[in-house]
Parts: sequence; C-alpha cells; structure tokens
Amino acid sequence: MLPFIRKDLAELTAYTPHPGGASGESAHSEIVLDRLDTNECPYDLPEELKQKLAWTYQQLIETNRYPDGGHAALKEAIAQYVNEGLNIPPLVKGDLLNVPPLNKGGLGGVPEPKTAITADNISVGNGSDELIRSLLIATCLGGAGSIFVANPTFSMYGITATTLGIPVVSARRREDNFAIDINAAKRAIDQNQNPPVRIVFVVHPNSPTANALTINEIEWLSSLPENILVVIDEAYFEFSQNTLADRLHQHPNWIILRTFSKAFRLASMRVGYAIAHPELTATLEKIRLPYNLPSFSQTAAEFALAQRQLLLAVIPETISERAKLIAALTQHQKLQVWPSAANFLYLRVKAAEGESAEQKHQQIMQQLKAQGTLIRHTGGGLRITVGTPDENVRTCDRLAAILTY
Ligand SMILES: *Cc1c(COP(=O)(O)O)cnc(C)c1O
Repeated sequence: MLPFIRKDLAELTAYTPHPGGASGESAHSEIVLDRLDTNECPYDLPEELKQKLAWTYQQLIETNRYPDGGHAALKEAIAQYVNEGLNIPPLVKGDLLNVPPLNKGGLGGVPEPKTAITADNISVGNGSDELIRSLLIATCLGGAGSIFVANPTFSMYGITATTLGIPVVSARRREDNFAIDINAAKRAIDQNQNPPVRIVFVVHPNSPTANALTINEIEWLSSLPENILVVIDEAYFEFSQNTLADRLHQHPNWIILRTFSKAFRLASMRVGYAIAHPELTATLEKIRLPYNLPSFSQTAAEFALAQRQLLLAVIPETISERAKLIAALTQHQKLQVWPSAANFLYLRVKAAEGESAEQKHQQIMQQLKAQGTLIRHTGGGLRITVGTPDENVRTCDRLAAILTY
C-alpha cells in the first residue's frame, strides 16, 4: 500500500459491475451472454433513433467546446417529464409555481392543489451515483453525519459513504416481505448519535428485493425530523409507476433520485437526476464538478425524453414477462420467489436441513453463468433482470435444469 493513501481505503474492494463475467461475450467467445445482472433494459435504442442521435452529434455538438455546464435544456425537459408523471399539465412559460387543480370547486370538497416541479427543483448528475456522492458530501462529510440503510438494499450508498469516511448505520428488513423493520430502524438511528444519522436512504421499489415502499414505511419517512435528509431512489419508477414526487413540497428534507440508465435505455450515457427543494438542488450544483455531463450524454437524455413514448412502449412487455417469469419460477418447490414492482425478480433457495442456502445461491449463479446467463448473487439471494422474451425462456429452462440435476 502506498504510504500516502488513506488507511481505511486499504480494506475496501472496488465495486465490480459484472462479478459474473465480462461484457457481452463469455470466455468461449462464440456464446453471447444473457446479461441479466444489472437491470438494464434489454433493448438498445432503435436503429433509426440512433441514426438521428448520431446526426445531432455531427451537426450540433462542437467537440472542442465545453458542454452546457448548467444543463438548462435538459433540466426543463426533465421537469416536464416529472410533472407528466404527476398528471400536472406542462407549465406555460412565466407561469407561477401553483397550477390550479383541474376539478376546482367539485362536490368532493376542496381538491388537493398540485404543485408543479420546475427546473429549479432538478439537479443532474453523471449517473445517480454522482448525486449520491454529492449528497453525502453535502450532509455528512468531515464527521458531520452518518447514513442509515435497511439491508439488503442498493450497495452503492454504503460503498460511497465508506470511501468518504462516512459511517454506515444499518438495520435488517423483515425476512418475509422485506419491509423495513421500523422499530429496529428507529433504534439504530437513536443509538447512533456520534455522529448523528443525516441521511436515510431508501429505494422505491427496493433493489435487490423489488418491493415498493409500504404505507407504514412512508409514514415513518414522513415522521423523520427535518435535520435528516430522506433519499428516495426511484431508479425503477417507470416500471412501478409509483412515485413520491407529489409529496416533495410537503417535505423539504426529501429528495427523489431517478436515472436514465434503466427504462430509458441510456446506461452507457451516465445520466441521473434529482428532484428536490431548490435550496438542496442549489447545494448539489455547488458540489458537482463543473462540466460533469458530456454534451453527448445531455443530448442523448434530451433525445430520450423527446422520444419517451416510443422508448417506454416496451414497458408493458417487461411487466408481462415479469409475471410469466414469476409464475414459472414459483413452480419450483426449491425456490421462494417474491412479487416485483421493478424490472427484476428476487428469489432464494429454500435450503434443506444441513444445506447452506448461500452456497446454493453461489452454485446456481455459477452454473447459470457457465450456460451463458449472468445473474446477481446479492443480499442473501439471487436477483434476475427481466430480459427479452427469448432470454427469459432461457433463464427458466436453465434454472429448471440446474434445479433438477
Ligand atoms: C441502477 C440503479 C441506479 C442507477 O444508477 P446510475 O448511476 O444512474 O446508473 C440508482 N439506484 C439504484 C437503486 C439502481 O438500482
């Protein structure tokens, strides 16, 4: 270890994106792998869209110039997309923040006014991973705070916190449905005051367990004091169609993260965004690197939003494929498969007496890999991305063969 490197970093291992294998092709290079370990959309951008994007690149992007450092156009487009998901009509330029409710004065009493999201509520990152790091810097760095996570959950919160020397406080989820054990969470937060918890991270729906937040969990998040930032990671929003963005205005200590890496098919472009109180987005702007998003990535994200109807049109297929996969895998006596609100499934092996479920998980992951299907062994179970219909048939066949041996 080089003597100038921080000692706590020596114990960390780098995040390996494909612990199962490399990209695209296996060691026997004639086999094309089914990459079902990172929850991407199985489809590339359609050819004609790629060509249009390439044209935009050739005609509009000056590669010798720095990108738009303020992401103005992209933030406008994102705000409009977020509002669409809240059923708020697009803002007229110069309009005030408050959009009058459509059914004003109806018989059902005073309708809840809906408040539109504007570009001031948006911050854009080089993947949501960058936003996670910026949030940690903004709230916890230098001994100012620790973070709370309910495991199993997305590993990057803990990994990134640790690289910054920020302590990670955790509690388990319930074993039957992976809801957060709220009493355990409260205890963990109360007992760790040195430094106090400054961020609670949740994923909605959770990765790797695919469950959306419950009413109880949302109530608990609502009850957290204003000096704790609540990060609600909605990376899988387009699959769950379930968002808490409409409650942001009541909770200045909440922030929602989303990404273009999943439903929007742009994992290669590294674009994520946050929706939050303008003071918080302004702070994120101070922390991020000046030109954090290449012009091509910004253009691709704007392009994907403009083409969203086309790109998101495959989501019903993913959802029906998910149901088929769950039905098929539930047939196996040896597997426990959970419901999913995302584009992936979570399952565990029911271990017999004297067997180790984790050893079985590891074996299944390896055997699937040998047959050409990459899945993820994580959080004490297996996470499998919903792929194309062909890939999903292969997943079922290969798993069935492994389980019968
Ligand atoms: C995939 C994923 C992301 C996306 O991260 P990017 O850096 O935007 O690619 C964020 N959060 C969770 C929980 C994810 O699963």
